[in-house]
Amino acid sequence: MTESIPPIRGMNDVLPGESGAWQRLEAVARETFAEYGYREIRLPVLERTELFKRSIGEMTDIVEKEMYTFEDRGGDSVTLRPEATAGIVRACISNGLLHNQRQKVWCAGPMFRYERPQKGRYRQFHQIDVEAFGFPGPDVDAELILMSARIWRKLGLEGLKLNLNSLGTPQSRRAYREMLVEYFRARLDALDEDSRRRLEGNPLRILDSKNPAMREVIAGAPLLTDHLDPESAEHFARLRGELDASGVAYVVNPRLVRGLDYYSRTVFEWVTSDLGSQDAVCSGGRYDGLVAQLGGEAVPGIGWALGEERIVELLRLKQLAGEELAADVFIVLGGAAAEAAGLGIAEGLRDALPGVRVEMNCGGGSFKSQLKRADRSGARYAVILGDEEIAQGVAALKPLREDAAQGVVPLAGLATELARLVPGRGRD
Ligand code: ATP
Ligand code: MG
Repeated sequence: MTESIPPIRGMNDVLPGESGAWQRLEAVARETFAEYGYREIRLPVLERTELFKRSIGEMTDIVEKEMYTFEDRGGDSVTLRPEATAGIVRACISNGLLHNQRQKVWCAGPMFRYERPQKGRYRQFHQIDVEAFGFPGPDVDAELILMSARIWRKLGLEGLKLNLNSLGTPQSRRAYREMLVEYFRARLDALDEDSRRRLEGNPLRILDSKNPAMREVIAGAPLLTDHLDPESAEHFARLRGELDASGVAYVVNPRLVRGLDYYSRTVFEWVTSDLGSQDAVCSGGRYDGLVAQLGGEAVPGIGWALGEERIVELLRLKQLAGEELAADVFIVLGGAAAEAAGLGIAEGLRDALPGVRVEMNCGGGSFKSQLKRADRSGARYAVILGDEEIAQGVAALKPLREDAAQGVVPLAGLATELARLVPGRGRD
């Protein structure tokens, strides 16, 4: 026997029985973005490596060890996108979308990071991402957060907690950075290898360390929120005011720094206590310097990304995944004449009843085995066509989910009868 080819570690198949929850999440997100006036943008999954190095930052986990980077056949270094923001900014600049314009956009799709695969952490995962460009004030920060809260509400997800922080401006961060370096330098023994290396390049990222042994030394470090520049402090206070007024609960978490370099001022993260250690389901922040850093005009930006795998898992855990779509009608075909007529009759029903799920038996089989398939399909009615029915121009209609007698309906009236029996379909 020929050996089968295994899938790539950390990359998942979403099977037919599982895709309902994904579709539900994506439909809710799409609808919500439209309600807020955000428009979809679709981008390549492959970009020049330089784009991610320059935006995410050389000293980050992603760029240092998680990117899928390779040379293409033309010798260019390209990378499978590890996140969406850089590509969106690149596309906005490439297409002149930020010249005298503001943009509110969203995007969804697969991202790639070479991480250690575990529950909730994969090498190909999916994000739904939203970004706003050209809005300096905290109103859009609040809008973006409210939009995420609305998505949780629509999905029926309760108990997500919002962590909020401000990173100030690059200038105020510089002063804070020096204090931080001084603090950690006096405690070199307590730092792990990664953190020692970051001390020179990117000391703020030490605060983001996931190493439990570092927890204590991090807890004692000076707080960025105590050293904000006045404008950032005001921006942060106004954002908190907007959230208070809108009734969105949050916790100010001064240790929240986020894994990417490009953030400024507002950063936030929605976390859950239901998924173990992979607890962040949605995170984002403001990146006022990024567009210019990537060669565009000095346009402020802010956005967030939610992790679809983690939200889908929550939906599954809380039994909010939605029912798997079942057939409404299953067509059973017995005999040559019925088989010859079957496709046409099924097509006619689909024309007459848009949205109704009509499944036709393919591949023959006895009446008994076809009725078994009809039952497994979840259909509420079986339309049974034998050669005799075809000769008489009728169909037998058998209820599958209730104890009712089988009836006989003229083929000409079949669609009307099914429209009566399976109402409310096809309007969505
Ligand atoms: P984490 O702290 O869990 O590593 P992150 O800070 O790296 O998350 P972002 O880069 O902000 O995450 O991505 C936004 C969201 O994408 C996260 O909140 C999470 O839900 C999801 N996510 C990130 N990395 C993965 C992954 N490897 N597998 C599945 N989901 C992920
Ligand atoms: Mg990460």
